[in-house]
Amino acid sequence: RREQAHAARFNDAQTRDGVRVEVAANIGASGETADAVELGAEAVGLLRTELVFMEHAQAPDHAAQEREYRRVLDALAGRPLVVRTLDVGGDKPLPYWPMPAEENPFLGVRGIRLSLQRPEILETQLRALLASADGRPLRIMFPMVGSVEEWRAARDMVQRLREEIEVRDLQVGIMIEVPSAALLAPVLAREVDFFSIGTNDLTQYCLAIDRGHPQLSAQADGLHPAVLRLIEMTVTAAHAQGKWVGICGELASDRLAVPLLVGLGVDELSVTPRSIALVKARVRELDSRQARTLADRALTLDSASAVRALVAEMH
Ligand code: PEP
Ligand code: MG
Repeated sequence: RREQAHAARFNDAQTRDGVRVEVAANIGASGETADAVELGAEAVGLLRTELVFMEHAQAPDHAAQEREYRRVLDALAGRPLVVRTLDVGGDKPLPYWPMPAEENPFLGVRGIRLSLQRPEILETQLRALLASADGRPLRIMFPMVGSVEEWRAARDMVQRLREEIEVRDLQVGIMIEVPSAALLAPVLAREVDFFSIGTNDLTQYCLAIDRGHPQLSAQADGLHPAVLRLIEMTVTAAHAQGKWVGICGELASDRLAVPLLVGLGVDELSVTPRSIALVKARVRELDSRQARTLADRALTLDSASAVRALVAEMH
């Protein structure tokens, strides 16, 4: 029995018909990595570096950042690290970088926009990341990308730094969390190495509902067919170019959503560490063709509640 429990936790998750879905962890501090691995994470699928920064009283310099990223990679012991560059601005302030107040911070200077306005901050972070890799699998992604220009500007900085700092196993991709990026996925997929779908923001921007709104946030449901269509477009575009797609928003750990996401062809689910066992168990119950049929039906429905009813019925 002990061995079975160990295997359930640490083995990879495959559907009954053998489709592998990587189950990874979302973390916000380097010290959380070992626990995530202990809970069965096959990778870190989202390191929220702004949370790492917030643990420091002042902006961490190159050396301090390199220490943090090395700590994560050491604890991962060869498993991949997907790290998101600083996602601040708007609703995510950093005390040591006061920013002008904005009337609509969710639509303002945040994520990659801020990084491109302050390229020296992004450059320091990228240098620390590349220096920490030491041949281990490092995947860097940029948050809130909404245009091809933003992606190219960020990618070019990585290319330039790679000429100085040798890295062996690097992939560079973007978060899909702005609807324009999902709609442009066929174009972006030609240039990126991977996509990771941030369903929290993607849902907020697709449905025009503030994700933290006291009255409305319950309606910001990632199972809304409009959001599912954006996910479907993203996966189709990525796979057409041989690229992989993860989901790192809360939706990935929603037990009703897992069959749909697997049916849509998602390759990786990145979740809070305490949900890893549950998500792996859900994946192992599925048949990928049945999941595909379910996803196709969900895409024809007209509301999130209709999608939820459909999936609940399957249970
Ligand atoms: C998301 O938007 O889904 C996401 C994973 O990023 P965050 O929740 O940190 O904005
Ligand atoms: Mg986000």
